[in-house]
Amino acid sequence: MEDYRRFELYIHIPFCAKKCLYCDFLSGVFDTDTQRDYVNALCNELKFYSEKVFGTVSSIYIGGGTPSWINPDLIVLIMQTVKENFKVDPLAEISIEANPGTVVAEAANTYLSVGINRISLGLQSANDDELEELGRIHTFKRFLSTYEILRKAGFKNINVDLMSALPGQTPEKLLYTLNKVTSFRPEHISCYSLIIEPGTPFYEKYHEDAVRQERGEETKFLPNEDQAYELMKRSQMYLEKKGYHRYEISNYAREGKECVHNLGYWNRVPYLGVGIGAASLIPPGYLVREPEDPEETGGMGLEWRTTNIRDIYTYIEECSHLPIVPERVGYEDMATIGSIKQITRKAAMEEFMFLGMRQIAGIKKSYFKKSFGVAIEKIYGHEMTELEREGLLTEKGDTVALTDTGLDISNYALAKFIK
Ligand code: SF4
Repeated sequence: MEDYRRFELYIHIPFCAKKCLYCDFLSGVFDTDTQRDYVNALCNELKFYSEKVFGTVSSIYIGGGTPSWINPDLIVLIMQTVKENFKVDPLAEISIEANPGTVVAEAANTYLSVGINRISLGLQSANDDELEELGRIHTFKRFLSTYEILRKAGFKNINVDLMSALPGQTPEKLLYTLNKVTSFRPEHISCYSLIIEPGTPFYEKYHEDAVRQERGEETKFLPNEDQAYELMKRSQMYLEKKGYHRYEISNYAREGKECVHNLGYWNRVPYLGVGIGAASLIPPGYLVREPEDPEETGGMGLEWRTTNIRDIYTYIEECSHLPIVPERVGYEDMATIGSIKQITRKAAMEEFMFLGMRQIAGIKKSYFKKSFGVAIEKIYGHEMTELEREGLLTEKGDTVALTDTGLDISNYALAKFIK
């Protein structure tokens, strides 16, 4: 009998060759001993969860960091642990993130041999001066050789990550990158705007400009608000002309090549995240044993969110004595390596809207009703009417979606659903 409980698996590998100047992801430079200890700890965490969470894994995403930076044997160990401890859909999309210059042919073959069938390459730009400014380790030439290695090895599903709104970026420079990338036809392209994050070297250098950009004032280095908008619009038009349809604010795919894992995330498919900082969304019915005392947990029928600790050495230590014994199953140990909290119905509805409406196809009213037992109009009728009046939202039958203008100012439009 098919298991109706399906969930996605996210595996965080926080290791990089060098920290990029704009990056605030949970990642850093660590020696190979720490990398091995971490992966062993992560495999313990996987075993720990396999005793607690029911269901079939519908997709796997190995992200980071730079998973391709660690020894491929460690990726093999992770995949073996997953397969030995979880039921994985034989058709599951299994992705790994990689950086140009960090994958040799042998590694590519190893990834394929353990079932990895999609690879996401962090190119960011085809202009070497922009790559240098970002503090990336690769050049465009290195990217090309990595891409060739992957295609030769047999990867049929490749994503390329790009960035817009870079310091000094002109439309011509962005179009040069898009032209180069689309010419070798990757299946998927993500194009995110650079965000200046506190705590990064870029913040020191550019945060005054970022504030000016946000206020709609003239900037010195970063594109101003209008220029950033133009960059985003031109990349959208260019990619669509080249046969990549936009299916989420920053994501484009060739027909049928949308990222299953990300679609699941935007549609609130339950997920299990392992590794430092990883979060999980676990609905009722997915735990091997549900809480016995509803009072104690604030009531049954709500979803759980766990968030793992962020310090790598504490994580390794905690995972080394996780209670991996079948009889200790249930919700009570879930906070062992982080925190656990129930998601309120209100927060779940907000998330449903906030994430779902990022998709160009929008959301289904019937799915909202099925998820929360109440018509969407009862909860968000006022907001929807207001956005519709502003020309930012459209309703067609069962579908509610942002219009093109709504997508252009999605931060403003989506904020309406957070009450
Ligand atoms: S490779 Fe990615 S995760 Fe690593 S430092 Fe650069 S941007 Fe951050």
